[in-house]
Amino acid sequence: FLLITPVIQMTAQTQGINDLDPVIEHKIDSILELMTVKEKVGQMVQYNGSFDVTGAPSDIDSKTKLEKLKNGEVGSMLNVLTSKATREAQQVVMEHSRLKIPLLFGYDVIHGYKTMFPVPLGESASWDLEAMKLSASIAAKETAAAGVHWTFAPMIDVSRDARWGRIMEGAGEDPYLNSVIGVARIKGFQGGDLADIATIAACAKHFAGYGFAEAGRDYNTVNVGESELQNAILMPFKAASEAGVATFMNSFNEIDGVPSTASNYLQRDLLKGDWDYKGFMVSDWGSIAELISHGYAKDKMQAGELAVVAGSDMDMEGRVYEEALEPLVAENKIEEALLDDAVRRILRVKFHLGLFEDPYKYSDAQREKEVLLAKEHLEAARDIARKSIVLLKNESEVLPLKKDVKSIAVIGPLADDTDSPLGNWRAQADKNSAVSVLEGIKNVVGNNAQINYAKGADLGMGERSFLMPLTINETDTSGFTEAVAAAENSEVVVMVLGEDAFQTGEGRSQTGIQLRGVQQELLDAVLEVNDNIVLVLMNGRPLDLSKPNEQVPAILETWFLGSEAGNAIADVLFGDYNPSGKLPVSFPRNVGQEPLYYNQKNTGRPSSTMVTYSGYQDGSREALFPFGYGLSYTTFEYGKLQLSASEFSGDSSIELSVKITNTGNVAGKETVQLYIHDLVASRTRPVKELRDFRQVTLEPGATQTVSFTISPKTLAFYTANRVWEAEAGEFDVMIGGNSVDLQKATFQYKN
Ligand code: BGC
Repeated sequence: FLLITPVIQMTAQTQGINDLDPVIEHKIDSILELMTVKEKVGQMVQYNGSFDVTGAPSDIDSKTKLEKLKNGEVGSMLNVLTSKATREAQQVVMEHSRLKIPLLFGYDVIHGYKTMFPVPLGESASWDLEAMKLSASIAAKETAAAGVHWTFAPMIDVSRDARWGRIMEGAGEDPYLNSVIGVARIKGFQGGDLADIATIAACAKHFAGYGFAEAGRDYNTVNVGESELQNAILMPFKAASEAGVATFMNSFNEIDGVPSTASNYLQRDLLKGDWDYKGFMVSDWGSIAELISHGYAKDKMQAGELAVVAGSDMDMEGRVYEEALEPLVAENKIEEALLDDAVRRILRVKFHLGLFEDPYKYSDAQREKEVLLAKEHLEAARDIARKSIVLLKNESEVLPLKKDVKSIAVIGPLADDTDSPLGNWRAQADKNSAVSVLEGIKNVVGNNAQINYAKGADLGMGERSFLMPLTINETDTSGFTEAVAAAENSEVVVMVLGEDAFQTGEGRSQTGIQLRGVQQELLDAVLEVNDNIVLVLMNGRPLDLSKPNEQVPAILETWFLGSEAGNAIADVLFGDYNPSGKLPVSFPRNVGQEPLYYNQKNTGRPSSTMVTYSGYQDGSREALFPFGYGLSYTTFEYGKLQLSASEFSGDSSIELSVKITNTGNVAGKETVQLYIHDLVASRTRPVKELRDFRQVTLEPGATQTVSFTISPKTLAFYTANRVWEAEAGEFDVMIGGNSVDLQKATFQYKN
């Protein structure tokens, strides 16, 4: 067997944090020599930012935090925002603490800081790695100007369950797509040099298995075997480590009986051992203290011991390390060398960021003013937003809308919503700062068409926030009459339905994925008078679209697209941008199919003609809209797939090529996808696995040959030998514009 690393490694270049710089390491040695145990523990403590630099006597916690900052007992803070606040907090440490080790400020910059880009699942539908790198780099620029050095992103949890609210934060169901997108985002955030004031440190999260929570219930138990863990869950994390991501975050869940936060196997043996990773591991919020609730530690002392031994380097607001680590060292329960290792890793990141040279260099009020919501940032946001839209259905060529249309009804609870498009985890975006669909349409048609707007119904009611569960309007249909009248008097209806932004995100699991509230009834009512409907969907998870799909001629999936949502949607509605997005996640026919993903395994009952086939008695097992699927205003024809040879061996390779022709009337972009199937292997393999893709833009009538190299890297997986390698044997290679409509060829690989 040929020992090789996963296919993704080819794209990872930035080594940064994993290349030890002797000068930095030497400086760290000298600092460590000066540090007391208390000061070492301090570097491993991260506090939430709500505190008052004046030490307002009313807030005990804030006062204690201030004292601890002065004593060098805090190494990092999260949620301290603005150049002013970060500067002030840094000043406390630099002016009062004995060793003057600069603070590291972290924040959840998940899809933009002030300028909002599409939520990560939506942006992933663009399959455009350069665009995603750009959006991350813009987010980094805005974040850095506010003095924040570190984002808790990207989330690269492979997510296959639409019930899980955090499916919105990642790149969907495929390990390879999560890997390449994760690496693109890391490169965008971190740039070529972490010390550059326009870049920030990234964080690969959540390590590991968080997306596999049973029944899609957030924080729930994860039970996976070694093959699934390595081949599906860990593939993106290995890629992130190789790409030099500055930090990792562990996860709330347990995996096979061990909470990740206390997993020696994941953190020490694998990440810091086999993968030789040199950055640091931050716990998830309070996850060290949660070891007690998991029933894995009896008290804070034991929780601290388990976590530090397992390789959790920084305690995010768990308030465990600050209490437990000093006594644990004093009582010889843990070796001080464990602290040294954690502190070394944390200081390494601070050195790479250049904080020891100038702890204030990121906090710059002038730059902050200049870069936040800069014109070119909004332009980029609009561009990536339109690239993220997926055309799911377009019968009788309802779309694109004619620009000389005389009347348009714009209907639905989300039609004039300027807030939901911002998505959840919206960092510093101002409330109601997005362009709504109604506004976007008006920007295109001006006074040339009659626009009949009606909200029709409310979706979410009462307070909408990150912390509050959302109440959905299940009964109020009083707006239907107005909506029906608007539809009756219009040539075409644009209906904007879906989810409120706060329906997805952390703690937002659902048992149902249909259009909630009275939205389906609203659609039914409008249909009675006008069936020329374009359904525009906003949502952060796959929805059950079985019924609407039978009712309307056109469906546009627009996710939560960020600041420029309405303009981007109007670009697509009127054909100023030809939709090119492809689903990064399967859309099921109903929630009972979940978790549904294309890269399943065969069972022992492969034939659908058998009664005892592994399907359902009461419905299909196939997706309604499969992974990789998305239509265009043009059509693409695939020529016959050509392989340069029908076998190869060792570390040689073969070429696959296929001609793609734009057979329609407008220019368009196609994402050509390559899947493989290892027919017989030492661990059973999925029937299809995405291993490469290319995007081609073609004028009408134009043809281009797209080529792929198939090498052992393309074929590698984590085999029964417990290494990434290609096994000899027969393979199918499949190519096409989605994961279902594929052409197939076969080749042999020999060692
Ligand atoms: C989430 C993390 C996030 C952290 C800090 C946690 O609840 O799971 O993804 O980075 O909070 O806000």
